[in-house]
Amino acid sequence: KQTKGTHITMPSKSCELHLVLIPLFCPGHQIPMVDMGRLLAQHGVTVTIVTTPLNAIRFRTLIDKDIASGSRIRLLRLRFPCIEAGLPERCENLDVLPSRLLSRNFMDAIGMLQQPIEQFMEETKPEPSCIISDRNLPWTFDVAQKFKIPRLAFDGTSCFTVVCSHLITLSKVHETVSDDQEPFVVPGLPDRIELTKAQLPEELNPGPLGSKNMREHMRVSDMGSYGLVVNSFEELEAKYIEEYKKAKGDKIWCIGPLSNCNKGKPDMAQRGNDIVSIDETRCLHWLDSWPENSVVYASLGTLSCVQPIQLIELAIGLESSKRPFIWVIREGYKSNEFKKWVHQENFEERIKGKGLLIHGWAPQLLILSHKSIGGFLTHCGWNSVIEGISAGLPMITWPVLADQFFNERLVVSVLRIGEKVGSEIGMKWGEEEKYGVMVKKEQVVEAIDKVMGGEMMRKRAIEVAVLANKAFGNSGSSYLNVNRLIEDIKQISGKKLAEA
Ligand code: UDP
Repeated sequence: KQTKGTHITMPSKSCELHLVLIPLFCPGHQIPMVDMGRLLAQHGVTVTIVTTPLNAIRFRTLIDKDIASGSRIRLLRLRFPCIEAGLPERCENLDVLPSRLLSRNFMDAIGMLQQPIEQFMEETKPEPSCIISDRNLPWTFDVAQKFKIPRLAFDGTSCFTVVCSHLITLSKVHETVSDDQEPFVVPGLPDRIELTKAQLPEELNPGPLGSKNMREHMRVSDMGSYGLVVNSFEELEAKYIEEYKKAKGDKIWCIGPLSNCNKGKPDMAQRGNDIVSIDETRCLHWLDSWPENSVVYASLGTLSCVQPIQLIELAIGLESSKRPFIWVIREGYKSNEFKKWVHQENFEERIKGKGLLIHGWAPQLLILSHKSIGGFLTHCGWNSVIEGISAGLPMITWPVLADQFFNERLVVSVLRIGEKVGSEIGMKWGEEEKYGVMVKKEQVVEAIDKVMGGEMMRKRAIEVAVLANKAFGNSGSSYLNVNRLIEDIKQISGKKLAEA
């Protein structure tokens, strides 16, 4: 077994290894998995990323560039069975679903890819050595079993969240509270972490669209999986990695921040979606016009169905903060209603010179890395958090759903590099309409002031960023973990060959 800090040389015949990556088709899961594929291929192994024609368009430019520079990475483009699963045509990604009520159809459609994936695995060379799959696709464990290869799970979240979730499941502490909003302390953690039932993800507090069968299938696949790959780095959450090992064994590889594999402005600008909704040069030019650490970047992620009335409150909060800001507002869910308000109120004119709205897709990595950005108002999706960490940014935290309240606790209570805006209740898929204004404009202004003016918080954020970039660099902990992961799979493959 390798120990931390040992120098490991690259496996000599690592190119014989073939890793098949199966992402969940939504930005927060697909983007880090594409980064992961690119990273693993840079370490000399063959990588196939399973995708669909419309998803491939989002990232093929970067993959083509990698291929041209010698990486053994390729895309398996499978037709997405929209019609068969009862989805409208071209709905190949969760972020374009017209309604959350179609989420199950969407998961069914991904499930239908099992057969073509198996066919590919039978025919392809070199023979697949391992599947790295999104944890939300439990059937990929059955595929791995069929081909007698390991399946590693990727959850797209922090180790902190995995451990919190595990301990809450074990202790059932959330079932002891009488009220959804009564705080409880997560037992057995190295830090005192308080949450309420209303803030738990669907796995622990199912909403109307939750599926018991799916959760059970995931539990069984998790148990059978060979290990967990995490988009984090050891120095960030060492105590929680230890807790994970105590609870589940030592097959865990923190190989992030994965976004760091996008080096240089073109990669950063194109990552996640080739088609950004703002001219890159205009965006950079705008950012260049502000002093260092003065601009707030705000984004509530790619899936959050925040009501227009809440977006209006946020709009006024940002405007009242009297700080320059860039705000990316996702297209789709009721975005036309919000745009109508923007138009009626002449909002873009009102904020001209001070605020920049991006309707659609922003080159987030590029923006975060700009020196004029001084704070990140984030919904605490894990990718955004780890990207903010890597950029050395203190955060204004506004969790909306899923694992985001856990991630907020890590940022605010453990790392102390963020301030809560005051979002207290998690939204459930299918119940979006129930939520009105949960956070007031005054709360937005107050949190922005604290973060933008908090020098100690900024100092800590920069210290954590130094650790992040060191971890990802040559011979850093994440770099070594990639090598360990490859070595580990190589050993299993070697054994399989010897037994054959
Ligand atoms: N992202 C981006 N531009 C956008 C919106 C999102 O580049 O306009 C990227 C962001 O950098 C992150 C991912 O999309 O890598 C979103 O993942 P996250 O976990 O932060 O949130 P989710 O959208 O899954 O809730």
